[in-house]
Amino acid sequence: MTTDVVTMDKIVSLCKRRGIIFPSSEIYGGIGSSYDYGHYGVLLKNNVKAQWWRALLQERDDVVALDSAIIQHPRTWEASGHLAGFTDPLVDCRTCKRRYRADKLEDGQCGEKPSKCPGQGPNCDLTDSRNFNLMFQTTVGPVQDEGSTVFLRPETAQGIFLNFKHYLQFARKKPPFGIAQVGKSFRNEITPGNFVFRMREFEQMEMEFFVPPDEAEQWYEFWKQARYDWYLKLGIREDHLRLRPHDADELSHYSSGTSDVEYLYPIGWQELEGIANRGDFDLTQHAEFSKQNLEYVDTASGERYLPHVIEPAAGADRATLAFLCDAYDEDQIDGETRTVLRLHPALAPVKAAVLPLVKKDGQPEIAREIQAQLRERMQVEYDEGGAIGRRYRRQDEIGTPWSITVDHQSVEDRTVTVRDRDSLRQDRIAISDLGSELERRLRAPWQSPKLGSD
Ligand code: ATP
Repeated sequence: MTTDVVTMDKIVSLCKRRGIIFPSSEIYGGIGSSYDYGHYGVLLKNNVKAQWWRALLQERDDVVALDSAIIQHPRTWEASGHLAGFTDPLVDCRTCKRRYRADKLEDGQCGEKPSKCPGQGPNCDLTDSRNFNLMFQTTVGPVQDEGSTVFLRPETAQGIFLNFKHYLQFARKKPPFGIAQVGKSFRNEITPGNFVFRMREFEQMEMEFFVPPDEAEQWYEFWKQARYDWYLKLGIREDHLRLRPHDADELSHYSSGTSDVEYLYPIGWQELEGIANRGDFDLTQHAEFSKQNLEYVDTASGERYLPHVIEPAAGADRATLAFLCDAYDEDQIDGETRTVLRLHPALAPVKAAVLPLVKKDGQPEIAREIQAQLRERMQVEYDEGGAIGRRYRRQDEIGTPWSITVDHQSVEDRTVTVRDRDSLRQDRIAISDLGSELERRLRAPWQSPKLGSD
């Protein structure tokens, strides 16, 4: 058994080496804390988002989907309170000219050498803190005047409230029901960092679950547990995951309860997702600012009320990072250190690699035939370049759960070996059974092979 060897540096370097995630705009020297997802990163993050959609849409019948605009009417942000209150406390250092979050000085790094926390160096000269609004502002249309100012959304949630009425009317939905959305959000974070943990442009997976007021508490409890369980089911180790209720002084004024799902990243326990009982704050605000009636009216009983809202708000990038950290492992094979991502097969960017042992004797043809057959069912990759051991390592590094090797015996009896990424076991399987066998393995319950090893 191995010990947990993951560090943020190892994740960053693996992601760069294998084209999973890398710094954006590198040919121009990069742009701080902005990252691009490469081929395997796109596949991995897509799988994370697909599992989120699956849990909400496919496995339930009380949640519907939405994809709203990023630029919304500016009144949205007045009503939501973001214009006045979506701020972080900012301080400047008059000496090194850097800016820091006043409430997170311990995370900042003073610009002077030897580097200390801001405020601790002999020359540090910090200003008083002032509120800094995190929304990115831009203008729409050819004329820049006051009326053309708009904002890039800092969360996906508000698009859901703006469309609540549509869903009552057209989707014939009746509380309790949820509207779910995945998309980019933008925050001008004062101190972004820790790889994709805190960026200025990131992806959220949010759902607003609208309920009769007297059911709010019960649904809040339900969604806390459901969201926690989602991460566990996808293989996050239980001792690296916790639900942390907010203290009274952390709660927003409208929230009667908020809990964070936290993951033990290499940088410590940090928020992965927040689940909040938001009361009727959002619908009340939008009803007032838009002068629209956003009440739900039960046509049978005549009962009318403004639904309360339970919001599970997750980050697709933070979740992807947590899955990467939880999966990262190293072990020894044939005297060499192997880097392996022990990802849940459902999340693995590539499910199976098809590898002819040699580039002749009919093996590549059979391997291509297998690839064509399997790609109907899952993401597969063909690789014939280099020694077989090196090809296995390449797949291990991106977390491919199964490597299929075509050898001389395959040509004779149409069987292949299937190598398991974690146990390293090799099973000989008939080519005709491969598709159904791999699908069976994909659906099987799974738990991290790292469990109990650290
Ligand atoms: P934090 O306290 O870490 O700034 P938050 O409480 O402001 O986060 P929410 O507004 O609750 O975050 O957003 C919901 C989710 O969106 C977070 O749990 C996180 O996963 C993700 N998220 C928020 N800000 C960022 C960011 N700057 N970069 C990446 N993901 C983010």
